[in-house]
Amino acid sequence: ELANRMAERAADVVKSLMKMGMMVTMNEAIDVDTAELVIEEFGHRIVRVSDSDVEQVIFSVDDAAENLVSRPPIVTIMGHVDHGKTSLLDAIRKGSVASGEAGGITQHIGAYQVTTDKGALLTFLDTPGHAAFTSMRARGANVTDIVVLVVAADDAVMPQTVEAIKHAKAAGVPMIVAINKMDKHGANPTKVRTDLLQHEIVVEAMSGDVQDVEVSAKTGLGLDNLLEAIALQAEILELKANPNRNAAAAVIEAKLDVGRGPVATVLVQNGTLRRGDIFVVGEQWGKVRALINDKGDRVDEAGPSSPVEVLGLSGTPQAGDVLNVVETEAQAREIADYREKAAKDKRAAVGAATTLEQLMAKAKADKNVSELPIIVKADVQGSAEAIVQAMEKIGNDEVRVRVLHYGVGAITDSDVGLAEASNVPIIGFNVRANASARQSANQKGVEIRYYSIIYDLVDDIKAAASGLLKAEV
Ligand code: GDP
Repeated sequence: ELANRMAERAADVVKSLMKMGMMVTMNEAIDVDTAELVIEEFGHRIVRVSDSDVEQVIFSVDDAAENLVSRPPIVTIMGHVDHGKTSLLDAIRKGSVASGEAGGITQHIGAYQVTTDKGALLTFLDTPGHAAFTSMRARGANVTDIVVLVVAADDAVMPQTVEAIKHAKAAGVPMIVAINKMDKHGANPTKVRTDLLQHEIVVEAMSGDVQDVEVSAKTGLGLDNLLEAIALQAEILELKANPNRNAAAAVIEAKLDVGRGPVATVLVQNGTLRRGDIFVVGEQWGKVRALINDKGDRVDEAGPSSPVEVLGLSGTPQAGDVLNVVETEAQAREIADYREKAAKDKRAAVGAATTLEQLMAKAKADKNVSELPIIVKADVQGSAEAIVQAMEKIGNDEVRVRVLHYGVGAITDSDVGLAEASNVPIIGFNVRANASARQSANQKGVEIRYYSIIYDLVDDIKAAASGLLKAEV
């Protein structure tokens, strides 16, 4: 398994183990530390998928550069309600069907692919908005490569536009601005561009480096330009994957279908998923009985960035779960059982929270963490800014406090979502969380700390940051 994941010969791995004095055979289980040594010996980089996976000695090994080929970008559309996200997704999909693609009738499976006039393939996630985006990210699945921020030209920047910007920034995903509803009387794209300046988005039309495209989902105006802008951004990102390895894929939708049993739509992130593959996905496992693409066709395989429906699961996984192809059914079952048990234990542990203390503990375990990220909400703009300034002064070259997001007003669901996704605590200064945010923070185990005196806050954060410093030495 380890050899397979490193794309090395099993015999070479056994040889390397023997050199370390371990007389093992090919099918012998080895412990995590030994596995790490071997991986380093072969010059690969180790990525621990998660703690439960470490127990099972599953590694996600970086693919050697020569095996990588470019893959299509995965695009999520975000923006304020009624600014035209759904219309834009529909228009893009229809445009591609009209231009003579096989099939004609498209199937809603949660994502679809289109080809630009110049032949670039693009994958769109069919669930617009940042709620899905953040909850996926909270589960560890960063599937989006590019965010298209839709802003209606007759309405300009609105609260959810701002939230979408924050979510995209927190995830480190580049944005393209689609100025929609250009067909409308009173469309004012200049206002959109100047509004965006206030949120540190300088579009190309204002000599910045964020691409902006004027479109109309209604008339189809500018859609080609938008697709080309996405293709260009994708080229800059140099997105790559290795199609010749066992697949890893992220679940974007899952349901229990009356006729077909559990069905999951996945986006292949690396490798190629094939019929007959044995896999584990979250707490479920299975054997691929059928793959169905976004045109409704049965296919034998799906390569990087392709969306497909997978049939043949033991149960329904959750959006954000990662599907990994493994070698044997026994292995798949074992990992799924382990995860089910671990998840039960976790649910049993009361208030598994992201507290400052836990963040410190995590920092101690992971030598690379030298940042203490926080989210700040305050009663007035002036105190929010004063807090941000005070926070940024804390720390030195080795440790610093990073304010991931700050704002004015009560702590909302959106703040809690961002905190959960980024695994950071929320600081409330002279503000409280609203009822629904409080409830969801409890459920998600997000810590909210309240302060009314700035010195208290600074002291606490200093203590936390110096904890980090000690962890470093
Ligand atoms: P969403 O909430 O962001 O998904 O927005 P929708 O796609 O549901 O669009 C909201 C409303 O705006 C609908 O009534 C659409 O018909 C309309 N709309 C969307 N795009 C355009 C456009 O480019 N031009 C015009 N005139 N109306 C649009």
